[in-house]
Amino acid sequence: MNEIHNRARLLWWLIVGALGVFTARIFYLQVIQGSAYQVLAERNRFQVFFRQAPRGLVVDVKSRILAENVGVFNLYFNPNLYTEDLSAHAARVSAILRVPQEVFEREVEKTKQINRTRILLSQIPPTAAMRFMEVEKEFPEFFLTSESLRSYPWGTDLSHILGYLTKIQTKEEFEKLKTKGYRLDSWVGQFGLEKVFEDVLKGSDGAVFLEVDARGRAERPASKETMPRGYEFTQDPYPGNTIHLSLDGQLSHLAHQLLRESASGFGSVIGIEPKTGAIRVLAMTPGFDPNAYIRIADKGHLALTEYPRALAGTYPPGSVFKIITGIAALESEHFDPKRQFLCRGEFVTPRKTFKCWKKEGHGWCDFLGGVENSCDVYFYHMGLILGPDPLTQWAHRFGLGEPAAIRELPQWSARGFIPSQQWKLRVKKEPWFSGDSLNMAIGQGEVLASPLQLADLISTVANRGVSYPPHLVDYVSDAFTDEVLYQNPGTLKPFLEVRQVQSATWDMVEKGLALVVNEGTGRGAQIPGYQIYGKTATAQNPLGKDHAIFVCYLKDEKNQPRLALAVVVEHGGMGSVSAVPIAREILKAYIHEENIAPSSPS
Ligand SMILES: [Zn+2]
Repeated sequence: MNEIHNRARLLWWLIVGALGVFTARIFYLQVIQGSAYQVLAERNRFQVFFRQAPRGLVVDVKSRILAENVGVFNLYFNPNLYTEDLSAHAARVSAILRVPQEVFEREVEKTKQINRTRILLSQIPPTAAMRFMEVEKEFPEFFLTSESLRSYPWGTDLSHILGYLTKIQTKEEFEKLKTKGYRLDSWVGQFGLEKVFEDVLKGSDGAVFLEVDARGRAERPASKETMPRGYEFTQDPYPGNTIHLSLDGQLSHLAHQLLRESASGFGSVIGIEPKTGAIRVLAMTPGFDPNAYIRIADKGHLALTEYPRALAGTYPPGSVFKIITGIAALESEHFDPKRQFLCRGEFVTPRKTFKCWKKEGHGWCDFLGGVENSCDVYFYHMGLILGPDPLTQWAHRFGLGEPAAIRELPQWSARGFIPSQQWKLRVKKEPWFSGDSLNMAIGQGEVLASPLQLADLISTVANRGVSYPPHLVDYVSDAFTDEVLYQNPGTLKPFLEVRQVQSATWDMVEKGLALVVNEGTGRGAQIPGYQIYGKTATAQNPLGKDHAIFVCYLKDEKNQPRLALAVVVEHGGMGSVSAVPIAREILKAYIHEENIAPSSPS
């Protein structure tokens, strides 16, 4: 906490403090455009230079910096101050800064014609700027100012979530923003949290006034005496607020790396704390380099990687949906979990034969055996007993088929899809067949869910129906005073029916999910000494190789649910092969980071 605080403050002092040193030079100079201060400039007595406020920091749950500012330098040329030595000066300065002399001289010529102080070179690296500073007194017509540039130390890892900045891009955008103190060359958040929290992060720019002589030359800094009444002669910038995320940068980095190294390299990981709804891990691949947007104008080729698949992508949930089928069945009076059904590898209906994933069959299964083995035939029986309406209703109660978004990123809301009898009649002009119930019971057919919905589902199951809206922001604080300006409200989701599920049902479901990890398809997620509950899925994909899915959660030594995870590897094949090992690595790292003690001797 202190470190962030100090970094924000240090940058501020660099800007404000430096003014004392360089009274004749101006830090954070900006072109005057569309501001209240312009009125002053128009009176031709003052020239106004804006000082860009440092943008607010974004930090993770352990106060690691996720978005910060780095200094770059701009070289200004004041055409009113040049002497007959100009061309010799230009040659030397261009050599010191290592830019081609002809480029440099062309800009000097242009500035002379415009006859106004302007930036000759921008984004000069600090080393070059230092070389110039040593000799700058010899060149009164050239001076340096600093500017802070956004920097994302974790690169692509959190690119979708943090977003990026660009300079104002269109006239329309400028027209919209100018009343809020933006200028044509202002940076503006264009994606992710940078966009949503633009007002929170921006801070307020400062300004410095130079008195202008009769010939329009900026001569000296304005003073209290010379400024018109009601205007300060200098205005300090105020840094943007610090956003404290619930996210763990280190765990998200690990998840990103594991996804990149996965079978297809395309996928999502979301980890939620069931007790609060705080998102602890979030990764999706491919990502993009947010730092690149600062430097390049053409970003067309990056559009593909901008797709926020963890939130906006939808997939057939496959066997993960069996959790819903199981709860619907256990809550139904027509179902007895002790009743056994025989799996011979297939289920024959008059219209079609439905297969179990295990060709040779599972033999006799009761509820726990059906869940442990993920026996499709067992779940076909459940689907038939239940019929479509309870399956549809319970899916909606767990948020499937309903708009789902992270609280702070509402622009990326996905509903997924849950079929119903009414939908089929209306859209497909067909009645609901028993085969539709069979398909739905195992999460195939038309059922679609986003990775966020799957993470939310397993988090709700882990916390026995008590569910909080998934969120990324813990709190927002003032960069200077540390005053907390916003705190996540911590309110419950209004899913009343889910909270009314009987505890015997939760007990049974949890037993089944424990069996999956201890004996079944989730064995690869075992960590000796720890209780892990999960469900794998190998979701059929009509367009190519199956998607690999695993949802799971961990319980700590006090038997409390921790980190509920959803892992989706697109075209990853079997969930147990592609998705489970990723979850295990993340759980291991989480246990280590959170110092969770084993609940049984390992
Ligand atoms: Zn079976």
